[in-house]
Amino acid sequence: MEREPVDGVEPEAVELEGSDGFAGVPDEFQRLWTPHRMVYIEGGPQPHIDECPFDRAPTLSDEEGLIVARGEHAYVLLNLFPYNSGHLLVCPYRHVSTYDLATDAEVAEIASLTQTAMRVLTAVSNCDGFNIGMNQGRVAGAGVAGHLHQHIVPRWASDANFFPIIARTKALPQLLGDVRATIQAAWPQVD
Ligand SMILES: [Zn+2]
Repeated sequence: MEREPVDGVEPEAVELEGSDGFAGVPDEFQRLWTPHRMVYIEGGPQPHIDECPFDRAPTLSDEEGLIVARGEHAYVLLNLFPYNSGHLLVCPYRHVSTYDLATDAEVAEIASLTQTAMRVLTAVSNCDGFNIGMNQGRVAGAGVAGHLHQHIVPRWASDANFFPIIARTKALPQLLGDVRATIQAAWPQVD
């Protein structure tokens, strides 16, 4: 059947993809989650383009910085541009670019925070596996090449995790905040 252009855009260009197929197809999320850039738009003051986002995040509140845990030498935050729901980053506070420049204390805490992140993500999202790693240098795919960060990406064998279900019904920036709060609430508190 013939359809009228919407706001001057041909109907073929405004077809919406159903969300039913998203759960359990993690690679689809990269496209779905692109609107997370809206966090920058709605988040008030914009970080200066030259400012390192991983230097800036710890100066903000947990909510604004998307931080789920702060250690002594390193901290954990949500990736603004996640490959998957619950995609976390572990960063040293110090602005160092590559893993070999991290101190023993930083390496040890990055490792222990990574282990805790795996346990927390497993507990709150029932994920079935993880991709964990560091891109070292821009040529290797590091988006923020100047500041070391370890990716922790939960993976699911099925659509059993709850994040995509929430994603069907909530605005995406709101979802990021919910994911952050859920992970932080489940994070073990140190005395
Ligand atoms: Zn930095």
